[in-house]
Amino acid sequence: MFTKILIANRGEIACRVAATARRMGIKTVAVYSEADANAKHVAVCDEAVLIGPAAAKESYLCGDKIIAVAKATGAQAIHPGYGFLSENAEFADACAAAGLVFIGPPASAMRAMGSKSAAKQLMEKANVPLVPGYHGEQQDADFLHAQADKIGYPVLLKASAGGGGKGMRVIENSAQFKDALASCKREAISSFGDDKVLAEKYLQRPRHIEIQVFADTLGNCIYLFERDCSVQRRHQKVLEEAPAPDMPAERRAAMGEAAVAAARAVGYVGAGTVEFIANQDGSFYFMEMNTRLQVEHPVTEMITGTDLVEWQLRVAAGEPLPKQQHELAIKGHAIEARIYAENPEKGFLPSIGTLRHLGTPGAVSFELGGDVVAPAAVRIDSGVREGDAISPFYDPMIAKLIVWGADRKQALARMAQALAQYQIVGLATNIAFLKRLVEGQAFSAADLDTGLIERNHDSLFPAAQPAPATALALAAAALLAGESRTVAAPAAAHAADPWSHTTGWRMNQSYARKLAFADEHTAYDTFVTYRAEDWLFSASSAAPQALSLATHNGNDYSIKLGDQATHGTVLRDGDVFHVFANGAHYQLAWNDPMAHAGETESEGGRLTAPMPGKVVSVLASKGQEVKKGEPLVIMEAMKMEHTIAAPHDGVIDDILYGVGDQVADGAPLLAFKTA
Ligand code: ADP
Repeated sequence: MFTKILIANRGEIACRVAATARRMGIKTVAVYSEADANAKHVAVCDEAVLIGPAAAKESYLCGDKIIAVAKATGAQAIHPGYGFLSENAEFADACAAAGLVFIGPPASAMRAMGSKSAAKQLMEKANVPLVPGYHGEQQDADFLHAQADKIGYPVLLKASAGGGGKGMRVIENSAQFKDALASCKREAISSFGDDKVLAEKYLQRPRHIEIQVFADTLGNCIYLFERDCSVQRRHQKVLEEAPAPDMPAERRAAMGEAAVAAARAVGYVGAGTVEFIANQDGSFYFMEMNTRLQVEHPVTEMITGTDLVEWQLRVAAGEPLPKQQHELAIKGHAIEARIYAENPEKGFLPSIGTLRHLGTPGAVSFELGGDVVAPAAVRIDSGVREGDAISPFYDPMIAKLIVWGADRKQALARMAQALAQYQIVGLATNIAFLKRLVEGQAFSAADLDTGLIERNHDSLFPAAQPAPATALALAAAALLAGESRTVAAPAAAHAADPWSHTTGWRMNQSYARKLAFADEHTAYDTFVTYRAEDWLFSASSAAPQALSLATHNGNDYSIKLGDQATHGTVLRDGDVFHVFANGAHYQLAWNDPMAHAGETESEGGRLTAPMPGKVVSVLASKGQEVKKGEPLVIMEAMKMEHTIAAPHDGVIDDILYGVGDQVADGAPLLAFKTA
């Protein structure tokens, strides 16, 4: 076995590989880009070497630099993870030439499977079932058009060198063919540098079912059952599960054997995935083989009690597969959800920013290893920690949340619960969307096909609901408790002095106060009346109810509103109160009437955006002298305007944004020199 390996990747997969290496007593070398200097994968490896700037093509895709680092640090093997260099046959060759073991299949197998059309020709010979279509060499437009007509519409055009759903076009009828071919070729050339395409029958309501295969250098090749990855958006996986619901044992065996035949046909070694597309009636066809470890490998690990990275390392070191086919069995059910920094309501636009708060579901104790006793209920594979940033340079995945249950129903319930416990502040995420998806009728009933999300669009993207009174009350209670802390602390010595209390006590009358909150869609006026022991609280025009703070521990609050006891986590980020309660996340911006220059956040003479938003007005200019409190920039965020004012007398050094610019949370808006 190796004593030291280099991990040529970043993020969760680099951390995942490092965890197994550590357990096996293998030292790890991380490589990182300038953007990743403080990344988790750098921290979890034994050594780390900087390989270049943020752009992947100048760092994580530089095979020669990575090989040089492996040589210099004495690593014997390179684990490529997934993405980046993992399916790059030239890199595998270069490793071999440098005397390093590439932890993956032989370059020849990668080449054979690298082109979708060449792979299909090979599979045809190996008697692996294929979707009816044309995957030959002829690329003449008229010839392809005739082939499409022969296949019968709808037809799917795919970039032969494609991946990640890029370069695919569905053609409904013959008239659409010409334009679709041109646009498919354009995307293929720009994404993959190769405009070769293939055409095949576009299946209606298909399922994506893939088989995990594993082969060693001694001629053993087995399958570790299937994963159902039908829940996709724009051909990208969102939820993955194992085993596939409603899979009869005979079909499982038939698909497993077809996958093993596919792997054997290319002399496969290591971990691989054979992807099939299946009709609702169960008939299945080979789509492609991914010659690496997949993002969704954990669901297979959870139902088989294996550590696939350990298997990869053993096979790469020349050892036989740890288990044979008859020693494998499926235990329970596992589901993975990909948690992304993205905004589902805005077309899944990636969101960048800092994970200012990261609260994860408890009970994470998955034991990696060959002799796993029982899988833990919840496993989180992540490459980021609280305080880390999701940058525009790489995939905006935050974590993979994987749950295990004795059966699908239990796994579903655990997934819904774990998603409800996930708390992220700092950027938009797909957590609420995933929760609706998991709890929705279609996924619960395993009514699966690749169009599930589109078909259920209305229930998955419901109109925004106003925040409930309990969420507003939690925000108000946190605000009021925070105020009494800040004022009461220095006055503790005078606890008996009524003037240093902040209960709002007034002679002759109780003190009423308006707290105006707003979220992206709605403005909420709430009213608080201070009383001796509690408050009287009303949201908008609702009748006032007694509000009291029962317990309060860090950011966790238990309140009583009228007869209703509620608890939640409330995090204050500038003037935004993030309330996590009942499995939902409410972002309530407080319009603080008392906010003035003296309280404006300024760090090291810079003035930062209190929340993500748009610059609507710039009132100062470069070089201008300003007085404390003078308004400098006006931002619009969460339906409200925020004035950024001078914290002191001083001079404007620089203005960093103009009117109309979008600014990220915490971004410096201008540079300021104190007089
Ligand atoms: P990529 O390599 O770009 O991910 P794949 O060939 O793996 O492309 O296909 C990705 C997804 O596209 C599949 O999971 C499936 O949802 C859909 N798809 C592919 N081929 C077909 C087909 N013939 N009919 C219907 N959907 C298909």
